[in-house]
Amino acid sequence: MEKLRFVKGKPFFWPLVRWRLNPPNPEKLVFPFGRTIYYEGDDLDPSVAVHEWVHLERQKFSYPWAAWWWITYLLSPSFRYQEEAAAYRKQYEFILAQAPHRATEALEQLAGDLSGAMYGKMASYHQARSDIRLGAVEYEDAEAERLARQAIGGEGDEKALYWVKRFREKGYSGEQLTWNVYCKISKYDGTPQVVR
Ligand SMILES: [Zn+2]
Repeated sequence: MEKLRFVKGKPFFWPLVRWRLNPPNPEKLVFPFGRTIYYEGDDLDPSVAVHEWVHLERQKFSYPWAAWWWITYLLSPSFRYQEEAAAYRKQYEFILAQAPHRATEALEQLAGDLSGAMYGKMASYHQARSDIRLGAVEYEDAEAERLARQAIGGEGDEKALYWVKRFREKGYSGEQLTWNVYCKISKYDGTPQVVR
């Protein structure tokens, strides 16, 4: 495969995007096109690069496919939502893996962006949030389970240690203890199940 190109500035089809979506803060936008990424301002955040990579992949790293992709993207809100949700999902997974301490905050920001004016308000905030988390729930599960086991072993975060103590007092042990602690500390409302 040919190398990716990074170009500072707006792509030739920017007037079409402005006409269809009229996004606020156009200076912050990043445009994937075939094998080229157009952007302005500072260097791309690595999680944004992951996001753009998903778009390029789905454009088959091809300029003709990218042209088709952009036309469909601008004409069809449902296609646009599907493509963006896929990219935001990968971006969130990347953040979860690289910087879990800022994942919760990042999820809020990403869900705000995906449901916001940048794409023409395609979905509600809650819809966007649950769609972004879709693929990441397994990862969050694994993380919560790890924290629970760590706490049962006598270390770990305060919240997990607190629940270990509480459930031990109730007579729980073994897997039952792990499961209950894990339910209490999993990031999503205490119920370890796929959202939606
Ligand atoms: Zn995108």
